[in-house]
Amino acid sequence: MCFFRRVRNVYLRCGHAVNLPEEEIKCDSPRCKFSPNHPSDCVPPSCTQTCWQYHQFPQQYAPNIDDFCPTCKAAQR
Ligand SMILES: [Zn+2]
Ligand SMILES: [Zn+2]
Ligand SMILES: [Zn+2]
Repeated sequence: MCFFRRVRNVYLRCGHAVNLPEEEIKCDSPRCKFSPNHPSDCVPPSCTQTCWQYHQFPQQYAPNIDDFCPTCKAAQR
């Protein structure tokens, strides 16, 4: 089942965080409406009964980076 991934880079040296654009992660299930493997002839009303119609709850991902953020780096020069 497909979902969106939200990445937020946390820069430890200055304490700033940078949100990256939301990314859609596709699954390969034929039973998911958003999947590339979903058959194009699978349409409502049957599709709504056999296939996922929603994205999974978005994943939050916040890696800690031992560095300054790009803005602070640029200001240091
Ligand atoms: Zn999917
Ligand atoms: Zn379907
Ligand atoms: Zn910063």
